[in-house]
Amino acid sequence: MKKNMKILDNLWQVGGEDLSGPGDAAIYLVSFGKEAALIDAGCGEGHQALMGNISDCLGESIPVTHLFLTHCHYDHTGGAARLREDLSCRIIAHALDAAYLESGNSQVTAAAWYGARMEPLKIDVRIQGATKSFEIGGGRIEVIHWPGHSPGSVVLTTRLEDQLVLFGQDVHGPIHPALLSDEKSYQASLQKLLDLEADLLLEGHFGIYRGKEKVRKFIRSFLA
Ligand SMILES: [Zn+2]
Ligand SMILES: [Zn+2]
Repeated sequence: MKKNMKILDNLWQVGGEDLSGPGDAAIYLVSFGKEAALIDAGCGEGHQALMGNISDCLGESIPVTHLFLTHCHYDHTGGAARLREDLSCRIIAHALDAAYLESGNSQVTAAAWYGARMEPLKIDVRIQGATKSFEIGGGRIEVIHWPGHSPGSVVLTTRLEDQLVLFGQDVHGPIHPALLSDEKSYQASLQKLLDLEADLLLEGHFGIYRGKEKVRKFIRSFLA
């Protein structure tokens, strides 16, 4: 298994199918000097590999203080509880998806699709409304409510090396009634993503798109 993938100087992919465990959606790590943040947690089966990858990137001196969950689905969240235990970070999610994590709903979180159970997961910071920004170390992450794939899906943006980096974990969908997806809000959300004009898109399952044109093309391919 590969260990990690460097994307920019302070940005890595540390988890995913060939980095931590076969059931994991992509897990990204961004460092802002004094503190670092993780975006998504995988399903948890590759926990040890993931912990190793994180410390390979950060060394001993930079703590992971924030774990952002882009939405409630198990391949993005099943590993969150153990990560919080080992890293002492805060777990952040949108209130509309936090509800299904906190109640341990294996249907809406899709844990049942993976033959697993979603254990109730306490969310430390519930995002209400459309946007919220977080100061982390010397940097900032903006969280944007991005409903459609799930009611409380979010995307994150940050600026690194003069590029607007967009963490859009399930931009591709799918739209499925069992996940409480909503096609109309998904389409509106896709348009909102295009308007961001990001330079770099980090997807949860489809890899990394570099350059405004490639980002735009990928997002457009899901427009109705
Ligand atoms: Zn999903
Ligand atoms: Zn996913």
